[in-house]
Amino acid sequence: DRTISEVDPAVAAELSGELLRQQSTLSMIASENYTPLAVMTAQGSAFMNKLAEGYADHRYCSGCEHIDVIEKLATQRAKALFGAEHANVQPHSGAQANAAAYAALLEPGDTILAMDLAHGGHLTHGMRLNFSAQFYNCVNYHVNEADAQVDMDEVARLAREHRPKLIVAGWSAYSRRLDFAAFRAIADEVGARFLVDMAHFAGLVAAGEHPNPVPYADVVTTTTHKTLGGPRGGLVLCRERFAKAIDSAVFPGQQAAPLAHTIAAKAVAFKIAAGEEFRDIQRRTIEGARIVAERLAGSDLAAEGIKILTGGTDVHLLLVDLRESELTGKQAEDRLKEIGISVNRNTVPFDPRPPMVTSGLRIGTAALATRGFAAEDFRAVADIIADTLISPVGDESTVLLRDRVATLAGKYPLYESAR
Ligand code: PLP
Repeated sequence: DRTISEVDPAVAAELSGELLRQQSTLSMIASENYTPLAVMTAQGSAFMNKLAEGYADHRYCSGCEHIDVIEKLATQRAKALFGAEHANVQPHSGAQANAAAYAALLEPGDTILAMDLAHGGHLTHGMRLNFSAQFYNCVNYHVNEADAQVDMDEVARLAREHRPKLIVAGWSAYSRRLDFAAFRAIADEVGARFLVDMAHFAGLVAAGEHPNPVPYADVVTTTTHKTLGGPRGGLVLCRERFAKAIDSAVFPGQQAAPLAHTIAAKAVAFKIAAGEEFRDIQRRTIEGARIVAERLAGSDLAAEGIKILTGGTDVHLLLVDLRESELTGKQAEDRLKEIGISVNRNTVPFDPRPPMVTSGLRIGTAALATRGFAAEDFRAVADIIADTLISPVGDESTVLLRDRVATLAGKYPLYESAR
């Protein structure tokens, strides 16, 4: 058995490069996390060789005795973690979890009411080029211009006007909690099903640090790799009466063989997410986002027209509003990359700049909380961000800012045994 360096030095070099990049910089991309080594071990295991078409105890091939145990464990753990009646752990991704849920609940051409991508929704909530808009009639709700929070009056008005078959609550770039009870009431009023896409905040829910949508929604979808801290993948939770429809929409509806190794990694992640250490990480994640939002709002950035959208955050991310600043989202992202902090530019609601430029920055704290960051470290990183966004790139302060990032990264070593 030859090592990867012998077989493929080009790829091996990039593997080492990526590990070093993660170790020496700080990820503040809101949808990223640093997966525990135990999860990575399951993901990189012999299960990646295993064909396991079908579901546990109902496979279309032999040799599934171990993956059957694992899939049942993953399913049980997911149900227990979120208090769900049924779980399907097979979706390859969050997008496929949504595709399966829509297929289970709708006919092609049916109407979905979901949040506009430009106001914080996701591609799968009706973006023009996505399957959601191509197979279904997607109508989008928005946030209020005044406070940048979801306009529930508009949700109710659009629901009455368009009589959707499905209402979707969930987001990729929004820093406040949604009112699941209010969404449910609107769905009931117009006879719609209600789906919550908790891809971003599933970890907070698992830890009891965010309201759980499961009691309100017919179906809940999520990714497993954001705040939840697991492998890249998807998960569907639902009431028992939708179980059959969901399972057959995932397999054979949307997918063929599941990723057995990813299911193993999900099982490990769900076990970790039920523990006290994970709860502490989620608490520090939310506290960190609050600290960064408050610190940036109270910094010299305010005089430059840079604000925090909605004035703060209740979750693991905040959105920096650059609409009244000379600085664009792209420039801000590039400046922070230059000193070793990765974030992503993001459109903000009513953004005057194009999507490749944007007037927003999405900053998340989940990965750093996993890495061990405490309140004082989040204060330090917030000050670094403020100083970086104020200072022009390329001057000598860039070197000092890089040093400050390196010191913080060094304080919380990552994947040491993988060196
Ligand atoms: N739904 C929401 C709300 C998301 O933020 C994401 C993340 O990108 C997805 C679905 C899709 O997840 P994936 O990239 O795994 O397909």
